[in-house]
Amino acid sequence: MQERILIVEDEEKLARFIELELTFEGYVVEKAADGRTGLALAQSKQFDLIALDIMLPGLSGFEVLRRIRQTSSVPVIMLTARDDTMDKVAGLDGGANDYITKPFAIEELLARIRAVLRNNGAAKDGPKNAERIVSAGTLRMNLDSREVWVGDSAVELTKKEFDLLAHLMQNKGLVMSRDRLLDSVWGYDFVGESNAIDVYIRYLRTKIEEPFGLKFIQTIRGVGYVIRE
Ligand code: CA
Repeated sequence: MQERILIVEDEEKLARFIELELTFEGYVVEKAADGRTGLALAQSKQFDLIALDIMLPGLSGFEVLRRIRQTSSVPVIMLTARDDTMDKVAGLDGGANDYITKPFAIEELLARIRAVLRNNGAAKDGPKNAERIVSAGTLRMNLDSREVWVGDSAVELTKKEFDLLAHLMQNKGLVMSRDRLLDSVWGYDFVGESNAIDVYIRYLRTKIEEPFGLKFIQTIRGVGYVIRE
């Protein structure tokens, strides 16, 4: 069945561009150019995902999100105009599933949409119906039992190591910046060395790569890290 996506975005050219790309990818798309219309559509029709701009005429994206969340758990990706930590905090606190900062590459938005739809599907199925296993090559993780294997060998990770690795695995193929990893794994209140991510990646390498002579985590110089298949 085709998945339905609502785009709430007042920049017409951007909205049209996203609509074209999503339609091309096989999604059914509806658009709203202001907060009130977006909210009305979100409340009257069934969508699988909403891409929601923050700075909107009428109602702000935050207000639209707040009202949607009173009745619905539909996945929402916030479109933020700038890399503003306060926007991200407010968006995720308000129940957004993810955010993307403009300007973005359409591939990144598509990847985030797929990831959010996939996670939402997995959440609906529940851990009883399908164990949540993610893998890349010989590296496998059970997100429910929090077990990790490389080939047949079980690997012991600390909580933070597991969370960091799980986040990279769940976003396989996407380069994750240090900031994003810090936000996602440590939370916004993180205070400490900004190289924490590098330190934990090093811990991970000594546990899942070096003993096996394998490489799973790629360093993208000046940006962050990615796990590719
Ligand atoms: Ca806007």
